[in-house]
Amino acid sequence: MSCLNLPNHILRKSNQEEITDYLSDASNYTGECESVYFPVSTEEVAVIVKAAVAGKIPVTTSATRTSLTGSSVPDTGIVINTSRMNQLLYFDKTKKTIELQPGFILKDLKDFLQKEGLLYPPDPTEELCTIGGNAATNASGAKSFKFGPTRNYIEELEIVLADGEILDLKREDIFARNDRVTLTARSGKKYDIPVNPTGMPATKNAAGYYIKENMDAIDLFIGCEGTLGIITKIKLKLLPAPESVLSCVAYFTSEQEALNFLTEARSLSYKSRTENLRNEIDARALEFFDGNSLQMLKEDFPGIPACSAAVWFEQEYSSMNADSVFSCWDKLMEKHKSLPDSWFASGDKEQKEIGRFRHAISYKVNEYIKRNRFKKVGTDVAVPDHHFEDFYRLIAHHIRQTGLNFATYGHFGNSHIHLNMLPRNEEEFALAKETYFYICREAVKLGGTVSAEHGIGKIKREYLKLMYDEEKINAMRAVKSALDPDNLLCRGNIFLM
Ligand SMILES: Cc1cc2nc3c(=O)[nH]c(=O)nc-3n(C[C@H](O)[C@H](O)[C@H](O)COP(=O)(O)OP(=O)(O)OC[C@H]3O[C@@H](n4cnc5c(N)ncnc54)[C@H](O)[C@@H]3O)c2cc1C
Repeated sequence: MSCLNLPNHILRKSNQEEITDYLSDASNYTGECESVYFPVSTEEVAVIVKAAVAGKIPVTTSATRTSLTGSSVPDTGIVINTSRMNQLLYFDKTKKTIELQPGFILKDLKDFLQKEGLLYPPDPTEELCTIGGNAATNASGAKSFKFGPTRNYIEELEIVLADGEILDLKREDIFARNDRVTLTARSGKKYDIPVNPTGMPATKNAAGYYIKENMDAIDLFIGCEGTLGIITKIKLKLLPAPESVLSCVAYFTSEQEALNFLTEARSLSYKSRTENLRNEIDARALEFFDGNSLQMLKEDFPGIPACSAAVWFEQEYSSMNADSVFSCWDKLMEKHKSLPDSWFASGDKEQKEIGRFRHAISYKVNEYIKRNRFKKVGTDVAVPDHHFEDFYRLIAHHIRQTGLNFATYGHFGNSHIHLNMLPRNEEEFALAKETYFYICREAVKLGGTVSAEHGIGKIKREYLKLMYDEEKINAMRAVKSALDPDNLLCRGNIFLM
């Protein structure tokens, strides 16, 4: 395949040694491509896409490649990497909005906003990802328990479509009518898109396209894993930063006590939100770690006591309600017999250390997988809250029966579980994949999702079929065909055409 005929100022790398890093992601999925392009502007992205479409060359968009599904890895064609599109374009502190190029790094955004006294809540555990990648995967994190996923904070998108046309979308501007959306590019070119509702689960969800009745058109592009367009500009809504945050890792001698604590904290938080109770428990994060995860973490965090499970919670508070909020959590911890050596973060530095603790477990699991040259076999399932405990018990029992090594942690406040299997050989890898399939099937039976936040990418396509029958997947294919008839953008992500 020959390289594209493009202006020289657009940076391109084709030497295979130079582009190796762009041929894999954090899931350890590997691929290949001819060249990687590094545009700096929307116009350069449009020029590259127009040249690619003329030669029917597939284009995969990649950012920092922290994806856990192979979604940013090309199987063929070229890559457009957004790392040089990393500018802050506009910031309005009064209106609490910010406009960024897609390659802006999440950690840089958080650091910037902290100084301005503002908060951007979506916080995938990996902070070195980009805002564009977050929008394309509808990323979420610990704070999504209270604040929801990336989707909730996207006000505007600028997108280069598969034919190189530029589209501007504002939230609450264009809605689906009679299961169709009409979009008009800057040039005036129109796109008529069928959007037949797929019946998405009511849980946190990142599997497949977001399609529902009378939907806002902007939502189609959020979480589409790069398959419908290349995001070149993002306007985000921000929140005021809280006065203070209580952050604590509570340790328990039994897993059941930890689960009881978490379930009660969740119900109390929902109650406080519904009834606007300011002096009670209202967690913004509720995360769980099983004994195996804590064992893996002990190497880096020797202060972890002998215990079977831990729950990390966070709550925002002010001088007005500090006493009552602390006292509510104290009572709940006492009721569920948390250990006396629970880890309270008293300042920003300590809170960051707890953040590092949470990140370390994901990192350790991914390192294990890379070291042993397997692909990641870690669940991203979520189920409705009322099924959560039974579901957790079912899969915890099942995984123990297999004899596999594993570590379970995750966003349990959202009934969202990362059960990571750690195979030691090919035989165990095959067993891990079988177990993974079983867990996904059981989650779907309960009305859950096979992916609550990481997306489907290239390694989870088979599992999407557990959630959606052929008719529903065809509804997604119809969206793709209307916008990308030659199937050029992020080919192989979510489903095959
Ligand atoms: C240790 C670890 C922990 C993680 N924890 C979480 C977590 O808690 N929650 C969570 O949601 N995810 C988590 N992830 C997954 C990952 O960080 C997210 O999916 C993140 O959003 C990917 O961003 P990225 O910039 O690295 O994008 P990439 O990995 O480069 O790309 C991801 C997808 O976005 C598309 N894409 C990227 N930029 C654009 C663009 N400008 N326009 C169109 N498409 C684009 C790519 O084609 C690909 O489909 C974790 C990953 C790691 C390694």
